[in-house]
Amino acid sequence: MKYALVTGGSRGIGRAVSLKLASMGYSVVINYAGNDAAANETLALIKDAGYPAAELLKFDVSNAEQCAAAIEGWQAAHPDDYIEVLVNNAGIRRDNLLLWMENEDWLKVLNTNLNSFYNVTKPLIQSMVVKKYGRIVNMASLSGQKGLPGQTNYAAAKGGLIAATKALAQEVAKKRVTVNAVAPGFVKTDMVEGLDEKALSAQIPAGRFGTPEEVAAVVAFLASPEAAYVNGEVIAVNGALYT
Ligand code: NAP
Repeated sequence: MKYALVTGGSRGIGRAVSLKLASMGYSVVINYAGNDAAANETLALIKDAGYPAAELLKFDVSNAEQCAAAIEGWQAAHPDDYIEVLVNNAGIRRDNLLLWMENEDWLKVLNTNLNSFYNVTKPLIQSMVVKKYGRIVNMASLSGQKGLPGQTNYAAAKGGLIAATKALAQEVAKKRVTVNAVAPGFVKTDMVEGLDEKALSAQIPAGRFGTPEEVAAVVAFLASPEAAYVNGEVIAVNGALYT
């Protein structure tokens, strides 16, 4: 059995990625933070589609101890296996102009979107390097490429994630591990609830928001064996909003 871990795999883009990886034959380990109902729904969708086994692994990606304990626990229960695909997807936003941004909102966004990369990747990278095969896909954002006003915290986290992607790719390329990032623009999920979709779509050359499945398709390519020579890249999925 081949295993893939998708952080924030229970809703939105992560759910679409979990379903896609399951369709590729992966046993998907679906991480989430608190919404048990959504996580169980994703699990049911995978099982109803007849894909191989999937499992839930609840932990807070912003908490290094929780990440290490959950991943060690998983490894102990699967002594002969390793996670060969990691999708660092979990994320939140807490938008505000810097002028009014609370310290807590700065730290929470940095911890959940950037420090999570360290917290989750660190316990998994060694087995990928030892087995000489691994795929890491980091969910960045248009905001991390361009910087969007009202998102200094989120832009800093996603920009940092892009830089970490490029650095780690060079560290592990020789061991046949790839590290890439996907940078979505506006994608229809709970995260964009409350945004004026009509007004924003008018500014997007494609004229609409993207779907989670359109992002998942790019993740699936980067997670596949065929993408062996794509390493340290950032692929935008934004309807030509920023090129
Ligand atoms: P979403 O619908 O809000 O789903 C977020 C997912 O992340 C949920 O599964 C949630 O779990 C999980 N999560 C949040 N905090 C977590 C934590 N501390 N520990 C573990 N899991 C946590 O978001 P989305 O739109 O699918 O976004 C997914 C990724 O794409 C994020 O990194 C986001 O920044 C990025 N992105 C999204 C867009 C967009 O337009 N939607 C654009 C660019 C980039 P619970 O259900 O338990 O809360």
